[in-house]
Parts: sequence; structure tokens; C-alpha cells
Amino acid sequence: MMAGYEEFPGKRGSILIEDVLTRHGRRDIFIGSSGIIEAAGEEIGRTCRSEADYCIAGTELLAMPGLVNTHTHAAMSLLRGYADDLPLQTWLSEKIWPLEGLLTGDDVYWGTRLACLEMIRSGTIAFADMYFFMEDAARAVAESGLKAMLSYGFIDLFDPDRREREMKATEQLVASIRAMENPKIQPALGPHAVYTVSEESLRWCAGMSAGEQIPILIHLSETEKEISDAVHQWGRRPVQILDHCGILTPRTVAAHCCWLDHGECGLLGERGVHVSHNPVSNMKLAVGRAMPYPWLKEAGVNVTLGTDGCASNNNLDLFEEMKTAALLQKYSWNSQTILPAPETLFMATSAGARALGLGNGALAPGEPADIILIDRTAVCNTPLHNLASNLVYSCSGSAVRTVICHGDILMKDRVIPWEAEVIRGASAAAADLVKRGCGE
Ligand SMILES: [Zn+2]
Repeated sequence: MMAGYEEFPGKRGSILIEDVLTRHGRRDIFIGSSGIIEAAGEEIGRTCRSEADYCIAGTELLAMPGLVNTHTHAAMSLLRGYADDLPLQTWLSEKIWPLEGLLTGDDVYWGTRLACLEMIRSGTIAFADMYFFMEDAARAVAESGLKAMLSYGFIDLFDPDRREREMKATEQLVASIRAMENPKIQPALGPHAVYTVSEESLRWCAGMSAGEQIPILIHLSETEKEISDAVHQWGRRPVQILDHCGILTPRTVAAHCCWLDHGECGLLGERGVHVSHNPVSNMKLAVGRAMPYPWLKEAGVNVTLGTDGCASNNNLDLFEEMKTAALLQKYSWNSQTILPAPETLFMATSAGARALGLGNGALAPGEPADIILIDRTAVCNTPLHNLASNLVYSCSGSAVRTVICHGDILMKDRVIPWEAEVIRGASAAAADLVKRGCGE
């Protein structure tokens, strides 16, 4: 019997998406109640129809794998638009850090819920996060139904006492996420960057990652200053420091990577490191150089896409990020042919899914049913000469109609049952945070 959407959230059932357009032609897609795609092909609907608990008519929709955001700080959504267009140091030390210092677990909960809401509305099904009060973030993610890799932002500032505290906080988060036993949420380690974390702590993270097979999320070579300071202070470039400490592994996702040289791209390839390209944040913070995509590609590096936090973006829309990535690479390498639309789609789907250990980001049997359905009658899809071109260059997240994450329907026809509650809660938390920041 077909269930209505009203009855559907929270319940697992099998789903048939009938006659939907994909990049490989028209398909019926059958999702088993385990959340895995069981069949995808032409005319399979006829045989699966009687088995499906729920049926989605796909004739006016496009189906694609859900988008994966490999670098963000979700709760920073509360700082959206709070401070923009300032010099980096002023922005950080006078605006962002003072407010971050006042954050409570409750703020992080509401900020993360808001971020999850925004990600679902714009077609993202999974993300990698690094922040504070991550137990509260984990609770927010669990309530949203998204997949996430969550890390505590480890910052010891080269102080041994602080190192002890950070190690404890990291171990606690890993233990509490494991205790949740939520298959959609996995723990990661989050050593922030070479300029905030000591070599001893980097080595400790590398050891824990290797021993327990836990992924590592880290910022790498974002600004020129990061490189020159590292060379000046330690006599090594950031990539050398991380390699020396054992941080460069196939379990590692390194964000930004703007100021890599050719040899460093080769080393990341050899070590199997995944890279997260964050073009909007890099442009907004004027880091002065685009991630060297052609060198990373040549080195066989798995390059993925991320938005970074909302304070430096200011949204979490990966459609916008795809377009910006494709344009930034073309502009900075003076080449119209670099990062074409199909490659950009791969970056935001399959590459991201592989980096976070979520399958291959494909609409194929055996893959997790992380699927988004897009309005093919929208202005941005009219005319529809080339599906990849429209998705990358003309669509935004607002063209997404329905989001399915591991077989769970998180949004149906742009309706998310808990949306209003989160808008209210996050608005109140953000207003209160700014009030506290003004000392009122
Ligand atoms: Zn970041």
C-alpha cells in the first residue's frame, strides 16, 4: 500500500521513482527498505510497482546523486551576514572570534539544525564538519536525517595544558558519536591547521587515526601567510609538517589547498589524501590563489567540494559552489576547457561520497539511495539541451524538489515538516548571541 508523505517521515519503506530523467537517460529507480538502490533501469517499474511502499512520479523531475559538502562549520550559519567586507584580521579578531567565544552548546545545536535545513533544501545529503560542542551538533544532525562526519576542532595553540584538554575533548566526541549508534553519523578527528596545532598533537591525531581507522579533517595551505609563517617558524612548509607528523593518509580530507606547489600536489596524490575545494570562501577571503586543480588532477588526487562555514560564504548551496568552482578554475588558469560541467558534478557527488566513505555517489544498484530530484520544468532547466550544463551553470539549490538520504525522504516537493520550528529556534539563538556579544 502506498503511504502518503505525511505518514512517511521516520518510517522506512521501499520507494519506486518512476520514469525519471538521469544523465544516462530515462530510468525507474527502486529503493529497498534498507535504504539501498536495488534496481535502476528502463521499465523496471512494472515489476517493482507492487513491491513499493511509496511511489514518486518522475516525469517532471531529474534525478541525480545527492551532493556532498566535504568542508564546513555548520553552526556558523548563526553568523551569516554578521560581518562581511572587512580585512581578514579585523574580521576574525574583532567580529568572528569574540562571538565564537560566547557560543554555547544550545547555539551550536540551533546553528547546526539551521545548516542541515539549508543543506537539505539545496540538495546536500552529507557533510564533513569541524567545530565545537559537537555532541550538540550530532544531536541536530540526527534529527535532520542527513549523513555527517563530525570532528571536534582541535586547537592547542602550542600549549601543553591545552593539548591535554583538546585530546580529552576529541576522545569524548569519538566515544559519544559511537554510542549514538547512528549509521548516518561517523566521528572524525579535526586538528585545525599547522598554525594552531602543535606537532605533538598532530602526531597524536595521526596515531589515533591509524589505530582506530578514524578519518582526519584539516585545513591546509589556505593563505600565503600560512606558508611563509611555517617556513619562518619551523623551516618547513605546511605539507611537509603534516607529512612529517603522519597526517597525510587516505583517511584525510584537506580543505582549501590553495597554495600548494606542483611537488606537494604529487605528494598528496601519493599519500591518497582527499582535497576539499572551497572556491567561494577562498574568493571572499581573498586568499590570492585558486586551488591548483590541474596539478591535483594530474597527481590523481580525489578533489571534492565544500562551502566552508557560512560566515565566509554566506550560504551552503553546493549548486552555487559548483558553478563558482568551474568558473574560478577557468579564470585563474586562463582556460575555457578546465573543469567542465560533468567533472564538476563528479566533484560534488561521487568524489565527495568516496572521501566520506559513502559509496560511489551513483544511481546504481548496490549504492546507498542518496538521491535528489530536481524540477525539470523550472526556468533554469528550460531548455534542457545538456543536463550537466544546466545543473552546474544555471540551477541553484532552489530547483531541488525532493531529497532522499539513505532511503529516507527528508524533503518532498520542497516541504520539510520541521522547517518553521528551526527557523524560529535559530533566529532566536542568533539574536541572543549577538546581544551577548554587545554586552547587553
Ligand atoms: Zn574551514
